[in-house]
Amino acid sequence: MADITLKDIRKSYGRTEVIHGIDAHVEDGEFIVIVGPSGCGKSTLLRMVAGLETVTGGEVSIGDRVVNDLEPRERDIAMVFQNYALYPHMSVFDNMAYGLKIANVPKEEIRARVTEAARMLELEPYLDRKPRQLSGGQRQRVAMGRAIVRKPAVFLFDEPLSNLDAKLRVQMRLEIKALQRRLGVTAVYVTHDQVEAMTLADRMIVMNAGVAEQIGAPLEVYANP
Ligand code: ADP
Ligand code: ADP
Repeated sequence: MADITLKDIRKSYGRTEVIHGIDAHVEDGEFIVIVGPSGCGKSTLLRMVAGLETVTGGEVSIGDRVVNDLEPRERDIAMVFQNYALYPHMSVFDNMAYGLKIANVPKEEIRARVTEAARMLELEPYLDRKPRQLSGGQRQRVAMGRAIVRKPAVFLFDEPLSNLDAKLRVQMRLEIKALQRRLGVTAVYVTHDQVEAMTLADRMIVMNAGVAEQIGAPLEVYANP
């Protein structure tokens, strides 16, 4: 269970402020999409929620904890990236198990969690393969599997489907949404693709030049451009 609260979030690189004070609240179990043109600050905002970038102003809370000073692994989040970030020399199983191993989760528990995630993602037949022996869609599923096994309350997605062809993108979009519903997790998803945003979002944060121009359900946003 985790909602997310952003209070006057700001980010500067050197003397240049690129995020100019964003306020937003994501409900527990909600699917929020951050949408906007390239360079508007979507990825920076998401990375601040993940703990991969420091905030230079304001407060990020996950659940009832202010997480500004917490490492990514202390935040009850898992993130899925555009380039999958899989380890090429490791099998699918080991890719999914890696984070749990480092966290000293017992072996049997790791096996159980990886097997369950693989079943959910229809990856059971591929557990011994290397990433290069998989299709793009399968690789993306492994990246999701790696997030699922951590059992986080919050999933963060940074343009996860950009490297896939159009048909697969539509299919994986449906899979991501179904999975999010099934797990009951909170999701924050970054994309520049408006159709993708409308299809996935319970609500969207429409960003432009470092500000949140609109926050609302897709139909509200497009009714009041
Ligand atoms: P988006 O994800 O919407 O494409 P980003 O969050 O990647 O946008 O970038 C927002 C702004 O911050 C851009 O102007 C970008 O050039 C700038 N920026 C991002 N990362 C850095 C960095 N490490 N150093 C300096 N400027 C950066
Ligand atoms: P853990 O130590 O919790 O097992 P991982 O092995 O999954 O974490 O992560 C390795 C590195 O990646 C850590 O240094 C951590 O800071 C970072 N990291 C952990 N979780 C995430 C995440 N969900 N998204 C991005 N980076 C992460």
